[in-house]
Amino acid sequence: MESLWEQTWKPPRFPAQDGDLNTDVLIIGGGMAGVLCAYQLHCAGVPYVLAEAETVCGGITQNTTAKITSQHGLIYSRLISKFGVRRAKQCLAANEAALQAYRELCRHMDCGFEEKAAYAYSVDDRRKIERELEALEKLGFPAEFADKLPLPFHVAGAVRFPNQAQFHPLKFVSGIAKNLHIHEHTRVCELRGTTAVTNHGRIRARKIIVTTHFPFLNKHGSYFLKLYQHRSYVIALQPAPDVDGMYVAAGFNKWGMTASMVSAMILCDLVQGKKNPYEEVFSPARSLLHPQLAVNGFEAAASLLTPAAKRCPHLGCALKWNPMEHTWDCPCHGSRFTEDGKLIDNPATGNLKN
Ligand SMILES: Cc1cc2nc3c(=O)[nH]c(=O)nc-3n(C[C@H](O)[C@H](O)[C@H](O)COP(=O)(O)OP(=O)(O)OC[C@H]3O[C@@H](n4cnc5c(N)ncnc54)[C@H](O)[C@@H]3O)c2cc1C
Repeated sequence: MESLWEQTWKPPRFPAQDGDLNTDVLIIGGGMAGVLCAYQLHCAGVPYVLAEAETVCGGITQNTTAKITSQHGLIYSRLISKFGVRRAKQCLAANEAALQAYRELCRHMDCGFEEKAAYAYSVDDRRKIERELEALEKLGFPAEFADKLPLPFHVAGAVRFPNQAQFHPLKFVSGIAKNLHIHEHTRVCELRGTTAVTNHGRIRARKIIVTTHFPFLNKHGSYFLKLYQHRSYVIALQPAPDVDGMYVAAGFNKWGMTASMVSAMILCDLVQGKKNPYEEVFSPARSLLHPQLAVNGFEAAASLLTPAAKRCPHLGCALKWNPMEHTWDCPCHGSRFTEDGKLIDNPATGNLKN
């Protein structure tokens, strides 16, 4: 099913890789994160190539709700209690910087950019909302309490962030992607040092940025142990009442618009050897000591021992049939395949073999 964004977008098209290439920076994956990295490197005059397996923004980005907000649920009280006020402040500042960067880029672009308030609400726990507001006060952010919302159900309270935004993510990408060095239909199948082996040849680079949503590399960083994929769904309704704001009680922990921009800003600086004020707080060197990792490890071990008709080419987990979407899904790492075995979502890098 096509998203509303896809139905109202004329995608820019880019040629596939033609012969071997050399570049300074190779970006792998052309979703919001990859395209923003390419755009920032382009503006900084750094030679780069972006390789996209299918088409630009054909992955998760095409199905986003596209709220550009520093309000990622009720995170700031949690961040303060876990990492302290300084780190929480850095995180909020990075998100606000990302929002500002979108604001500036969208100023002269036809991409439906609109400033809106964002609300995170609770239907039964007013104290939770108050705790978040106390945390935001410590961070010096002007959030407000709200409980009279134009929603068709009662809420105990909500945290209101003023001056957040929403836009048409694909029209935005069309606006920035025009002159970028992008190769579509160019899948990276393997990395040998900093040389990528693609379905069209090789790309030799000095540095590589992986923006494939879930990293397809297994050795570097052991991210297949540390990350897990969540799938969420959105429906667009017509005609529904305008609730004048952005509410959704919930890769970037589902907040990839600001997180893509923050990542692009950090990575663009890092590949040029510059310091970035937010790199410390977004370091990917996360600890293995997390309860979810035990769950991931247990599920992967159980799946490997389960007899199965089909196995994932990524790490061999038993695929599960998803009767709602008619897909084969990997319960361990989130790769997905069509009924006849064509790859939909990574970290697998190829189709199912018969
Ligand atoms: C229903 C829903 C609602 C959401 N709402 C919001 C929201 O309101 N606000 C918000 O901030 N975030 C939201 N998110 C999250 C946000 O949309 C994502 O975090 C973001 O779009 C991810 O972008 P990405 O570039 O990391 O990944 P993707 O868009 O998935 O891009 C990854 C790209 O890498 C390519 N690729 C993969 N493997 C290879 C390979 N081996 N070689 C070459 N290319 C490869 C893929 O083809 C794909 O195009 C939402 C997500 C969903 C699902």
